[in-house]
Amino acid sequence: MNIDEIFDYTSFTIDREPHIILDPTVCAGCVQRGCVNSCPARCYSYNETEGSVTFVYDGCLECGTCYIVCDRNAFTRWGYPRGGFGVAFRMT
Ligand code: SF4
Ligand code: SF4
Repeated sequence: MNIDEIFDYTSFTIDREPHIILDPTVCAGCVQRGCVNSCPARCYSYNETEGSVTFVYDGCLECGTCYIVCDRNAFTRWGYPRGGFGVAFRMT
């Protein structure tokens, strides 16, 4: 099963309170940008023109990859959505 197929079995209840918040000043100096290349949900994107990383948490799969790969501790908050919110996987 590839990542696009996983989304066929995934639903989200989006919390208005973000469970992950980045410090853009930290990301501005990052050249590796491991989050952009490793987030399976493509929550991170790099704008070459502006030289900035954009993050949206709506489709986060809560896998924890970005927390592990970021070597600059760019998160002012990293956690999971509140109870009842976030991703729900249905594999059957
Ligand atoms: S979250 Fe971490 S890895 Fe991603 S751009 Fe910001 S500093 Fe770099
Ligand atoms: S926890 Fe996983 S899915 Fe969510 S933003 Fe980080 S890498 Fe992407």
